[in-house]
Amino acid sequence: MASSAVYKTYARTELAFETGEGVWLDGSDGRRYLDFGSGIAVSSLGHAHPHLVAAMKDMADKVWHTSNIFRIPEQERLADRLCAASFAERVFVTNSGTEAADAAIKTARRYHYANGAPERFRIVTVEGAFHGRTFAAIAAGGNPKYLEGFGPPLEGFDQVPFGDFEALKAAVGPATAAVMLEPIQGEGGIRPFPHDYLRAVRKLCDETGTLLILDEVQCGMGRTGKLFACEWSEVEPDIMMVAKGIGGGFPLGACLATAEVGDVMIPGTHGSTYGGNPLACAMGNAVLDVVLEPGFLEAVAGRGIVLKQALAGLVDSHPDVFETSRGEGLMQGLKCRVASGDVVAAARAEGLVTIAAGDNVVRLLPPLVVTDADIKEAVDRLDRAASSVEAQIQSGGAA
Ligand SMILES: *Cc1c(COP(=O)(O)O)cnc(C)c1O
Repeated sequence: MASSAVYKTYARTELAFETGEGVWLDGSDGRRYLDFGSGIAVSSLGHAHPHLVAAMKDMADKVWHTSNIFRIPEQERLADRLCAASFAERVFVTNSGTEAADAAIKTARRYHYANGAPERFRIVTVEGAFHGRTFAAIAAGGNPKYLEGFGPPLEGFDQVPFGDFEALKAAVGPATAAVMLEPIQGEGGIRPFPHDYLRAVRKLCDETGTLLILDEVQCGMGRTGKLFACEWSEVEPDIMMVAKGIGGGFPLGACLATAEVGDVMIPGTHGSTYGGNPLACAMGNAVLDVVLEPGFLEAVAGRGIVLKQALAGLVDSHPDVFETSRGEGLMQGLKCRVASGDVVAAARAEGLVTIAAGDNVVRLLPPLVVTDADIKEAVDRLDRAASSVEAQIQSGGAA
């Protein structure tokens, strides 16, 4: 691979993409790829969506950045719309998911401080979680690989096994500020929490005065066929992080909260130079224009069912390659019996972009505007990829 000055923090594929349109990407190798990764659930409306391109050009001619020392009408509009469509009443706008996680953690700790209980600063998280790469977020995520070599991790996180409600209940004590989890773990391998687990966590939080923080950075903004994945279980958090799909490819995130919780963040407690600037928020509003259009989310849910059923069929026809499929809406995972990276590579050779995740899973996160025909094409390509992996197994080439 040609060397570059860029930090070597990613094991990159040699391929680059030069242009994109809808669910298609044009590779530097001259081939067209069907994009079922969306840049990790970011390009939620596909590439070069006409409404987003128009919004970007329109704002580019007006003003890009002014600073949060002034009112930002685009930011206020985005915040009001996110609140109107959710549990939330207050919003802090960020540039990324990990900053939304930091804002959420600070808000939760400050809430108890403001209510006379500064000793309540601990946060209970779940194994397999991913909340980003800032110091607070790697401590929250608890993945030893991401913590190694960076000195003492930020204090105050207690991690419990996935899906074990009794363990979570035992971990919530007098020093607990919040429980924080993804309704569907993304990086952890597309692992949805059962709805009754989420409801039990909500009830426990209510009974103990603990805040519930939901990380919807990956599963939110329409990905599962509801604006937020927690709507499937009818559980409302006190604080929620969103990012990834919210900007359609423009760096944008947000920490949402109820008024009671959000209002503890008084002037001076938090800030961001870029966060919520006019250009970013114009893109967020443009994404919302499309996602909140009547019928859009219902259509996503419908396509999600088509994808889910097709993947179940794929697992049946390749039992040596796939163990199972799981997920909600257009957030689906294939748990592999072979190395998931081999399946991702074989799919790419068939012109299909997918993304590996934890727990040996291949993630499928197509743009929300994917059609049933695109889904059929993607599953046909996965079928061929699985056959080529089987052929490698038979020739002893892969394990
Ligand atoms: C990607 C992700 C983050 C971090 O977002 P960045 O924009 O990469 O900082 C946090 N939480 C979840 C669930 C994610 O999938």
